[in-house]
Amino acid sequence: MNPEPNNLKHQTLAEKAASDASILLANPRGFCAGVDRAIIIVEQALDKFGAPIYVRHEVVHNKFVVDELRAKGAIFVEELDEIPTGSIVIFSAHGVSKAVRAEAESRGLTAYDATCPLVTKVHIEVEKMRKAGMEIVMIGHKGHPEVEGTMGQVEQTNTENNQASSIGMYLVETPEDVASLTVKDPAKLAYVTQTTLSMDDAALVINALKAKFPQINAPKSDDICYATQNRQDAVKIMAQDCDLVIIVGSPNSSNSNRLREVAKNQGVEAYMVDNASYLKSEWLVNKKKIGVSAGASAPEVLVKEVIAQLQNFGIGNVQELQGVVESVVFQLPKNLTSAAKTNSAKSTSN
Ligand code: SF4
Repeated sequence: MNPEPNNLKHQTLAEKAASDASILLANPRGFCAGVDRAIIIVEQALDKFGAPIYVRHEVVHNKFVVDELRAKGAIFVEELDEIPTGSIVIFSAHGVSKAVRAEAESRGLTAYDATCPLVTKVHIEVEKMRKAGMEIVMIGHKGHPEVEGTMGQVEQTNTENNQASSIGMYLVETPEDVASLTVKDPAKLAYVTQTTLSMDDAALVINALKAKFPQINAPKSDDICYATQNRQDAVKIMAQDCDLVIIVGSPNSSNSNRLREVAKNQGVEAYMVDNASYLKSEWLVNKKKIGVSAGASAPEVLVKEVIAQLQNFGIGNVQELQGVVESVVFQLPKNLTSAAKTNSAKSTSN
């Protein structure tokens, strides 16, 4: 008799283990108000002005969302010089530097701003701190577009290796970065954070800053946004009752990565998947409770597909956990709603 193929054996084991396992669904999960708004802005621009609509950077960090908008006529670019003069451009939810805004204007682009209002709040904070004569420490991930946008709210200069850097603004990611940080005047120092950091990691860096620079000024309110906080709290609670956690999110989504880390920090095996096709049946071997959540940029349809696939693997029971009910809604940019009205008025009179 032929021996059973290895993968079939694994599959059977997983299915056997999963038959008495259950799925716990975290709440809240998935889309936040800033992501909702950003997607609506691109859709409305496409509706009102027609394709192509250019979007600087992925409007939100989710492959499914970006592919859907691309299919409707959005063109995603990394830099404005890829956009023909006179076109419409949308700035992504992560925000842009002042230099990018100025470049859009000088190139005759019509810009609609999908920057999340909670990112804009941090930009305004930075401006006020600078006006008060303070240097600023930004806690965030190097290379993330939100960090580039926020750092770019202050005057830029070119360093020797031709990299743009911000005058009077320092980026730190870890307590070790704080240890090696030198500033001009510790009495005139403030900090801000990226909106999607791990609350626990950010607290470590903030504590290191406060220990080294006791006079450092904190932002007026927490920069880590409500959606990040609520999703991390929900995953932390859920993970305590799970032996496996699956986070739905794209690899470049900061807040989705943080959710996976939050679960891992609870000592639970945790994976992040872009969609259901990335699930592996062997993850389920000997697992009884599988927690599922989604980053703020991941649509619910992908969560449903993940649940369906877990059920294909043999898990029958799905339990929706209770959590904070979110009611935040952000208004659309005024120049888009007024342009939309003008456009529909024109088409009615034609
Ligand atoms: S995660 Fe927070 S900051 Fe980012 S878009 Fe959503 S609400 Fe805005």
